[in-house]
Amino acid sequence: MYETTKALILREVRYKESDRILTVLTPGEGKRTLKARGALRKGSKSAAATQQLTFSELTVFENRGRATVSEGVVLEAFEGLRADFSAFALGCYFAEVLEAVSEEGVGDEAVLQLALNSLYALSRSLSDPGLIKAAFELRLMTITGYEPDLSVCPVCGEGQIESPWFFLPEGTVFCGRCRSHAPGGVTPLHPDALAAMRHIVYSEPKRIFSFSLTGEPMEQLKTLCERYLMTQLDRGFSALDYWKKVK
Ligand SMILES: [Zn+2]
Repeated sequence: MYETTKALILREVRYKESDRILTVLTPGEGKRTLKARGALRKGSKSAAATQQLTFSELTVFENRGRATVSEGVVLEAFEGLRADFSAFALGCYFAEVLEAVSEEGVGDEAVLQLALNSLYALSRSLSDPGLIKAAFELRLMTITGYEPDLSVCPVCGEGQIESPWFFLPEGTVFCGRCRSHAPGGVTPLHPDALAAMRHIVYSEPKRIFSFSLTGEPMEQLKTLCERYLMTQLDRGFSALDYWKKVK
């Protein structure tokens, strides 16, 4: 049975002479493993569409539980990533995280949309790569069940938090007066970094990269978004270590 599906190629592994085994993210069925037979052969109809970090429309043939790509059309190649080694490496980290948070058989259009928007922003250099990464990390946590509560101090309920402190394990923000009530160590948070985090968590999907930040608050945001993701998912990512070496 043939079907067509849109798919973001998260990972491709060479298999045998000229095949590729793909891990892809689809709107309807979440994460899927597909085989692209002959994708590496000259003149293959699926070569370009089955490259890592490409968004494609794939024709898939299903037989006895095995799904094979017969052809593919590239919808978005994110060309800018292919011309920039460091940006590509960061995109590979996004892909590794997406693979970790996605499930087979469970489609999540919001996650796929965030992935596409983030790769697009990266490939067009719409913002500092570190800020795109921070927005991707925090927004992804927000839409996959790890939403931080940045609205008010959980002790006094104050929303205008003047000297905020971030509590990583729970994603909560304590005010300066209440910080001693936090059930563990808290990290100082610049008000501008808090404003940026609120923007990333609460704004419309297409607007999450539309903020600017410089200096110390920017460094705080970058560090905290990464640490928040690592803390919530309780693991590291080899592609992140690699990006840090080559950026
Ligand atoms: Zn308080």
